[in-house]
Amino acid sequence: MAEIGRIHHLDCCTMCPVLASKHGHHLVAHVLAIETERAGIVLVDTGIGDRARQDLKGWLGGPFVAAVRPDADPARSARAQLEALGLDPRDVRHVLVTHLDLDHAGGLADFPDAQVHVHLDELAAARHPSWRERSRYRQVQWAHGPRWTTYERAGEAWFGFDAAHALDGLPDDIVAIPLAGHTRGHAAIAVRGDDGWLLHAGDAYFQAHTVHPEVPAGPPVIRRFEQVVAVDRQRVARNHERLAELARDHGGEVTVFSAHDAGELERLRSRR
Ligand SMILES: [Zn+2]
Repeated sequence: MAEIGRIHHLDCCTMCPVLASKHGHHLVAHVLAIETERAGIVLVDTGIGDRARQDLKGWLGGPFVAAVRPDADPARSARAQLEALGLDPRDVRHVLVTHLDLDHAGGLADFPDAQVHVHLDELAAARHPSWRERSRYRQVQWAHGPRWTTYERAGEAWFGFDAAHALDGLPDDIVAIPLAGHTRGHAAIAVRGDDGWLLHAGDAYFQAHTVHPEVPAGPPVIRRFEQVVAVDRQRVARNHERLAELARDHGGEVTVFSAHDAGELERLRSRR
């Protein structure tokens, strides 16, 4: 077995924002579960977990639940889906979060023993949010005291991006690519499997059209939402350009996808 085994694409929350769903548009929470030879199961993001699903308003906040309308189905948590795949959730030894927004960190409490890898700037933002950031981070989601492991910007190149290699305890085929803009310490996570590299770009973009122009654009409200929630819109715009270049110039080697685009998730699932 290679160091990286099977890679599962999970959808750990369906979100139907009021303004998008009238256009027939919904969002997913795309989570990767990576089976590895020596590092157990590695998750990329967590979506909305079991404990959050027992008390959506408490864990996500009333305004988010009302506006975004996440599903409450207990079968959709990452933990439940691992079990359905015949995997033991206790084998999840590492969680890599693209960032700590409530819809990405909402399952951390289901894996209390895992090492949680996050960019240093993101952990700082989540622990000491500005007034503007306060509603996106939910302290209850890490009240159990995760085993944080932070990394910073590193100089090694990955297809022209600066990658933080040598994530503690993880194989070299999994790297974090700092891509701040959506949040202070947002990162994309790259993993090399049998079909080449997958790049989970988190919320670096919100709809496939941004990076894959051949895919039709979603409703404009998605783009507006993306702008409103960005801590640095210029960096978000630059990240869009860089990811579109990557997809265009290296599409044969790297498959780029985001956390919330339902079509991207569907295409990746049907690849096997
Ligand atoms: Zn998100």
